[in-house]
Amino acid sequence: MQPIIALVGRPNVGKSTLFNRLTKSRDALVADLPGLTRDRQYGTGKMGERAYLVVDTGGFEPEQKEGIVAEMARQTRAAIDEADVVIFVVDARTGLHPEDEEIAAYLRRSGRPVFLAVNKAEGLGDQFPAADFHALGLGEPEPISAAHGSGVAELMARVLPAL
Ligand code: GDP
Ligand code: MG
Repeated sequence: MQPIIALVGRPNVGKSTLFNRLTKSRDALVADLPGLTRDRQYGTGKMGERAYLVVDTGGFEPEQKEGIVAEMARQTRAAIDEADVVIFVVDARTGLHPEDEEIAAYLRRSGRPVFLAVNKAEGLGDQFPAADFHALGLGEPEPISAAHGSGVAELMARVLPAL
């Protein structure tokens, strides 16, 4: 099986946009790999000679509203546990959020290599709250724009060697 890159982060930070960008070269959703659950979305990607699986989280539709937070936390943990490497996506425009800190705490305990992608950074230059994100203790924040593509190659140049 190919190495797994999990995309985690709170809702609306741009995980699915990044997923689409990282899997675009193949554009193939992995529908029925044995042992993979349906509440996360898997896709194949390739950069250079390196093939990988990308896992997107948060695409589920919970049956009951009050179950959302617990289900999201469960799904995020499950994705982290099965990943070889995690890309933790945060939002440059909203800045650090308490939920980011909760996810970061789980990530630090997970022992997985984590790369911190500060999304929606297009047009911000150095004006994103880098110090706040740095304080999460997950290494150097990498400004990216999943929508426009900037910074994604730089991010993946750090991620791929960790696979
Ligand atoms: P998810 O909930 O984490 O999967 O986030 P989505 O990928 O669905 O994106 C949430 C919203 O953020 C959508 O309206 C996207 O168009 C927007 N978005 C995603 N990436 C970027 C980006 O790089 N820049 C900007 N400005 N908006 C983005
Ligand atoms: Mg999504």
